[in-house]
Amino acid sequence: MRFNSHMQTALSEARAAAKRGEVPVGAVITSAEGRIIAQAGNRTRELNDPTAHAEILAIREACHTLGQERLTGYDLYVTLEPCPMCAAAISNARINRLYFGASDPKSGGVTHGARVFSHPQCHHAPEIYDGLSAAECEALLKEFFAAKR
Ligand SMILES: [Zn+2]
Repeated sequence: MRFNSHMQTALSEARAAAKRGEVPVGAVITSAEGRIIAQAGNRTRELNDPTAHAEILAIREACHTLGQERLTGYDLYVTLEPCPMCAAAISNARINRLYFGASDPKSGGVTHGARVFSHPQCHHAPEIYDGLSAAECEALLKEFFAAKR
């Protein structure tokens, strides 16, 4: 299926992030037709930037490429449930559909914690599809953190 192939691209970004010593999270932004506009993995360590999460980097790249401040009609795939910061950015970017893999009870902000998209202050909520390739996304994170200990 179309969305599975994009999650595989997000997973390869996550694997590349792990190789750089970053938390393995990857994100992909596609047009409504399924064309990849941007893809990124976490780079917080490399850039010394706590906001350099995969989703933020992908949104920045897509907006830059398209020369626009919003991504109305575009979809975002990410291997892990977005944190509150990224969820707010996804809302501000007017992303159409959000697909994510593993859920994140510790730091997630979509189905956990701040639940940004169901907050009354949220002006735009994407359609949300969770659990995509979740086992694979989770295994990657578990492996990474197990190796750190
Ligand atoms: Zn984030």
